[in-house]
Amino acid sequence: KAKADGRNTYRYYTDELTTLARERLVMEAKLRQALKMNQLECYYQPQIAITTGKIVGAELLIRWCDAEQGFIPPDHFIPMAESCGLIHAIGHFVLEQACTQGYAWLVQGLPALKLSVNVSAHQFSKGDLEQQVISILQSTAFPAHLLELEVTESALMHDKERVIRTMQQLRAAGIRLAIDDFGTGYSSLAYLQQLPLDLLKVDRSFIEKITSNDADKQISKAIIELAHTLRFDVLAEGVETAEQLALLKDMACDYYQGYYYSKPLPAEAFRQLLLQQVANQQD
Ligand code: C2E
Ligand code: MG
Ligand code: MG
Ligand code: MG
Repeated sequence: KAKADGRNTYRYYTDELTTLARERLVMEAKLRQALKMNQLECYYQPQIAITTGKIVGAELLIRWCDAEQGFIPPDHFIPMAESCGLIHAIGHFVLEQACTQGYAWLVQGLPALKLSVNVSAHQFSKGDLEQQVISILQSTAFPAHLLELEVTESALMHDKERVIRTMQQLRAAGIRLAIDDFGTGYSSLAYLQQLPLDLLKVDRSFIEKITSNDADKQISKAIIELAHTLRFDVLAEGVETAEQLALLKDMACDYYQGYYYSKPLPAEAFRQLLLQQVANQQD
């Protein structure tokens, strides 16, 4: 569309930028408003122990339902929240939500569950994550050992010394740590070995083709063995079929998450699912 004419080209791009910048500002303002007005909601996706088939925890996944635009997926607004700094407030909201909800379920007599919260690289490198998490644990009375923080493999690649230090502090406070989307980054074995991790989550892209592509199957198998050698538990992300689950069981994978068991659910629906599990055990 831009013309060869210098002036027109300049004009075209300026207009374009202004429009984009304006749209971004509008989105940002809407997100800020959504946070304030409680229009962000945490969904819970069950995490299942493969040997017992029981729910052992849940991952919190944020949802934004906008009155005009409808459902906006996290992959669309988390990157924006990261670049405008809103991620810190959103991160705080999700952590508080996890601990408040987790404590309420404990008080109601539901089985103790681990709750996993996604933490952005920006939160991780800001320097006050440890104090923030500890103060939320104190104010909500949720036990530290039931809280897990998920950090993506790529988030761990900057300032490694500091990442290790932060992780050690979180670990010392009793908080569990997981590496998310594993296999999509470039962590070296030497580095992995230094991280105080509890859980390694194998990225969905491998699990997706585990039954159809031999390379993906062998890679998944190798990742599971590697994790066990390093004394981490392993969870497979995005399990959608019984065949995938059977293979993962053969490979001695410890846990899984995925549509095969359940999509992420609103808190109340997740609670019902748990109650159902408790009832089935008593039969
Ligand atoms: P993630 O942490 O790797 O979460 C897994 C994503 O896979 C979720 O997408 C989940 O709904 C989806 N999923 C689970 N099982 C299946 C399956 O069987 N098949 C398929 N096709 N997908 C499955 P979602 O909820 O859209 O979240 C996308 C990403 O957004 C998350 O990836 C995470 O990186 C980010 N995110 C979500 N909530 C938060 C949050 O509270 N804070 C931060 N910083 N990031 C978040
Ligand atoms: Mg995650
Ligand atoms: Mg993931
Ligand atoms: Mg992801």
